Amino acid sequence: MGHALPLLPRAFVWACIAALLLPSLGQAARVEPPPIATIDEDVEWPLHGLTAREERYSPLDQIDRNTVARLGLVWSYMTGSDRGLESTPIVVDGVMYATASWSIVFALDAKTGAELWRHDPKVAPWKARHACCGVVNRGVAVHAGKVYVGTIDGRLLALDAKTGEEVWSVQTTPLAQPYTITGAPRVVKDLVVIGNGGAEFGVRGFFSAYHAETGERAWRFYTVPASKEGPHEHLELEQAAATWPADSLWETGLGGTAWDSMAYDPELDLLYVGTGNSSVYDRARRSPGGGDNLYPSSILALRPNTGRLVWHYQTTPGEHWDYTSTQHMILADLDWNGAPRKVLMQAPKNGFFYVLDRATGELLSAEKFVHTSWASRVDLETGRPVERPEARWSEEARVVSPPPLGAHNWHPMSFHPDNGLVYIPASEGGYFYAPAEDFTFRPGFWNTGEDLPRLHRELEDYAAVRFLPCGLTRLIAWDPRKGEKAWEVLHESGVPGGTLATAGQLVFQGSGKGRFSAFDAQNGKERWGTDIGIDVMAPPVTYAIDGEQYIAVLAGVGGSQGNHLSRFTHDNAGRLLAWKLGGEAALPPVRERPERKVEVPRLDVDDARVDQGRTLYAENCFSCHGTGTHASGVYPDLKTASAETHEQWDAIVRGGTRTAQGMPSFADALSEDDAQAIRAYVLDRAWKSGGFTEQLLEFAVGRVCIPTSWLTD
Ligand code: CA
Repeated sequence: MGHALPLLPRAFVWACIAALLLPSLGQAARVEPPPIATIDEDVEWPLHGLTAREERYSPLDQIDRNTVARLGLVWSYMTGSDRGLESTPIVVDGVMYATASWSIVFALDAKTGAELWRHDPKVAPWKARHACCGVVNRGVAVHAGKVYVGTIDGRLLALDAKTGEEVWSVQTTPLAQPYTITGAPRVVKDLVVIGNGGAEFGVRGFFSAYHAETGERAWRFYTVPASKEGPHEHLELEQAAATWPADSLWETGLGGTAWDSMAYDPELDLLYVGTGNSSVYDRARRSPGGGDNLYPSSILALRPNTGRLVWHYQTTPGEHWDYTSTQHMILADLDWNGAPRKVLMQAPKNGFFYVLDRATGELLSAEKFVHTSWASRVDLETGRPVERPEARWSEEARVVSPPPLGAHNWHPMSFHPDNGLVYIPASEGGYFYAPAEDFTFRPGFWNTGEDLPRLHRELEDYAAVRFLPCGLTRLIAWDPRKGEKAWEVLHESGVPGGTLATAGQLVFQGSGKGRFSAFDAQNGKERWGTDIGIDVMAPPVTYAIDGEQYIAVLAGVGGSQGNHLSRFTHDNAGRLLAWKLGGEAALPPVRERPERKVEVPRLDVDDARVDQGRTLYAENCFSCHGTGTHASGVYPDLKTASAETHEQWDAIVRGGTRTAQGMPSFADALSEDDAQAIRAYVLDRAWKSGGFTEQLLEFAVGRVCIPTSWLTD
């Protein structure tokens, strides 16, 4: 799968191999196994990013470039989920704590994988409708005998680390509003900090700190004002309100949700929080007349005791493309032009890799790490992007790179302090942004200001148009000081996996092709790899117990990229896998998922009925079941629905008979006639795409992403 070698003439390669073989001819092959370093003390993974600086770099080196060949599975744990798994396992006192979908927490013996306890917060299944990107969860925080987790319905729970029993619970968001929590909480100075998501549906972003012992709220920071004039909840919102016109689309909440990244510098006593995109995407509708619109798409530096803002840096002023800055932030001390500098590094969705002075927020570097068309460069004097005006799509549809899924999404990076490289799980791509002709805000539904029915029409018949090859995910080794790529590995998948760097000079990463690999940190050569059969998005961790180093990762796709860019021929039964040198456990079996073909009746309906169904589908169904009905396999492919499902169509869609499986009722949004129009659209798609599987597979591995007819230049 991975190939980092330059292309060489085949004859030259064979000549080299022959030359290497010659001296060994006639000698008895005797290979000494490489020595294994001893580990005197247990080394664990106590915090989300291993340290508060979130480098995801482990000093463990028992598993290195030489010994890694002997890495073998030591245990596995079936999570009982078949949705996306994005959690970073935390390892404290020999116990591993991780999460599965639906915010379920489990604790395992980190040496054996034996389950110690499991806590199901029993999230109401209807809440799945508010999750833009699946009922995923990125993990827990463990502190002073308690395990903290945010739930998809907006609760923050403190569990007893020994038993998993609930100690306290607070509702951090208004339950009826489309807020969700998918990010991991962080504990800073006895405060638990937690954000939330929901900007696509229209919410007002905020994050909060709670006392770790009691659950009492210490402070809350709103990322956008509620109105132009106030009264504002805190002083920082006065500065923000100046960047919003009075006729802004206040009813959408304006977005700016802090749904993932945080980091903490104890010396500077600064907490860093990344904020998400605006609501709606289209600035001309959201903020007529323009404006930077603070504080979405920003990195915020705050005092953790008070939640007061010290500085902010906005990566995408006047955000317009779903370009969040919630991506992973790494704190490092770099030699910068001959002087040591405390920096913060982020590769947000917008395609630029940023290096900031983390004491002041001063911009030091911003360079493109993938194809990026919305801006030509970032001006280091002003700290602002030099935008391409044609990238704003308020008046007419535009193809812009990166796409809303981003050049880099939630998948954690890692930083190797020895070689100074940052390992980014990156994606290439572009997207067709089309403005809605008549936008009306629908509370609780997808509100981006896009013409989604048109997007569906464009994507339905992509077999008929030529595509620009792109969309491959890649592992990019980025040199932040040079502002350039050191090397990259291309993956034959549209789904990236988080990364881990180690002192063994290795970078571990899973892929959307069911493979888990260790790459050479210096040059990207795959030193070890194993086909585990289940696709991986989650970041690996490493720890040492009783002298042995372990590597562990969750496998199972779904969520922001897994929902759309995967298509599997096997099941998606989630599992946590752990390896050590000499491990000899057997991989849990993977069930093949046979290709599903059904007889589809040709419906006697006219085009207008199909158009009606497409519009309703685009407004209500696509975020789970796929654009243009191109389903990933994480959720059911409606084109292959059974006769029984068709018979029960209205009972499922409006009656809520499959709510427990995560398909809530849409009776509040759709009439019986609407539901039947959607059914007509689905059957029309099924009828017209008889050979859909082959096309989808190509789409799924991310080989193609932009029809050439979309290109504007
Ligand atoms: Ca978003």
